[in-house]
Amino acid sequence: MKLVVANWKMHKTRAEAAEYARDLGASIGDGIAGRELVLAPSFTALAQARDTRGRWTIACQNVAAETEGAYTGEVSAVQAREAGCAYAIVGHSERRRLFGEDGALLARKLARCREAGLTPIYCLGETLAERDGGETEAVLSRQVETLDEHPAALPLVVAYEPVWAIGTGRAAEPSDFRTACVGLRRLLAGRSALRVLYGGSVTPENAGPLAAEPSVDGFLVGGASLSAVAFAAIARA
Ligand code: PEP
Repeated sequence: MKLVVANWKMHKTRAEAAEYARDLGASIGDGIAGRELVLAPSFTALAQARDTRGRWTIACQNVAAETEGAYTGEVSAVQAREAGCAYAIVGHSERRRLFGEDGALLARKLARCREAGLTPIYCLGETLAERDGGETEAVLSRQVETLDEHPAALPLVVAYEPVWAIGTGRAAEPSDFRTACVGLRRLLAGRSALRVLYGGSVTPENAGPLAAEPSVDGFLVGGASLSAVAFAAIARA
């Protein structure tokens, strides 16, 4: 079963999310065989993004590192789970870069996901400078260490997202991400419920060739997922 996740980032009002859900439902009918679809809207639109027919599930794009308390503006993993989330995106490069999230903080977020019963979609990937400097393997190994406390038997989704491919229109070639994804599987060997996704400028046009690459179990899609029709086309690819 391929997993295809739509990361809407800070886009869509509740009305737009409801319209998207209608469009996606119309586009996929009874669902797409062999595909698990997940929508990750803003917290405000979780209810509108849900599907009463269960053809897709919902994810949050972030959770608090704390369980509850005086953390103004935060949303806890328990609250996200109660709002219907099955998954939580943790460690997206935008959160690492723009909000200074580091391995120690992300390990706490992963712990909160476990306690709440949310499956993490843990994002990692190297920057262009790191890639050019031949540091990809070292960067990924370091980012994987954040998962050390995550029990091997629990479901885990890892999204390999080279930072230079996110939102740039420059998707990695399968030859670019094969080595990284195979390496990640080696680093995470022994985990019984591991899925490895690729993310970075996936579009309906390039999804077919990218999906043919056996080292990935699906995609995390940003920009192109903002159209229900495009997201459905990617999922079908
Ligand atoms: C992302 O934000 O996770 C992502 C992959 O974005 P895009 O598809 O726009 O590159």
